[in-house]
Amino acid sequence: MDITVLGASSGIGGPARTTSFRVGEAILIDCGTGVGDLPLPDLLAIDTVLLTHSHLDHSGLLPLLAHAHASNGGGGVTVYTGPETVQALKTHMFSGPLWPDYTRYPHPDRAFVRLCPVTPEERLQIHGLTVAALPACHSVPALGWLVDEGRVAWAFTGDSGPCPAFWKALARVPHLTDVLGEISYDDSRAETAARFGHLSPALLAPLLEGLPSSVRFWVSHLEPGDEARMMALIAPALGGGRDIRQLVAGSVIRPGGRV
Ligand SMILES: [Zn+2]
Ligand SMILES: [Zn+2]
Repeated sequence: MDITVLGASSGIGGPARTTSFRVGEAILIDCGTGVGDLPLPDLLAIDTVLLTHSHLDHSGLLPLLAHAHASNGGGGVTVYTGPETVQALKTHMFSGPLWPDYTRYPHPDRAFVRLCPVTPEERLQIHGLTVAALPACHSVPALGWLVDEGRVAWAFTGDSGPCPAFWKALARVPHLTDVLGEISYDDSRAETAARFGHLSPALLAPLLEGLPSSVRFWVSHLEPGDEARMMALIAPALGGGRDIRQLVAGSVIRPGGRV
């Protein structure tokens, strides 16, 4: 199933959009500013959001996506995320002052935003895919996601510092072809990266070494305007003949396929 990269930056400015990937027609991974570029019919086709964590660069357009559904006859979205993130969204995003409470509107039993807590390694069947939440290590509770299509499987780290349990889980997936991950800092700021639950190339390299060199790695969460400098540092640091690429908003990836 194709992944359309709607946004993969850590911030905004010019063409940069924050994290959001569309999987097929109906599934969204994270709901950053990138999703706002979709035409309305495509927004209404989304019925599932796999959310990594509560930070606004990943969740910020969720209220507006719900509003698009509510205003245009959409069926709303089911949001799968960790229990702490469910609570954070209820308390801070959908509690009234910022935005209408679409988790209860028009009725608690058929709301436009249905928040479903999941725990790491829990498996879901969604639109013919097996989807599993994976552990992540970030400054707030967070998840990664594994998407298993049967013949191929791929994963997204979300925002995460070094998280051995995530990489151990991936090492158990023999048909893993692609990992979408974050690198937020260069190695001069590796200590800052680890403290705030992010990765630098040197922090990622030993983790990625546990996966076969045939597994591609796609870089997200770079600062707008700093992409070329960072990619020049990242490729040699991860090395090993692995295919390392930058996630670029507007591009389409076919896991396991030719690029
Ligand atoms: Zn974050
Ligand atoms: Zn982020």
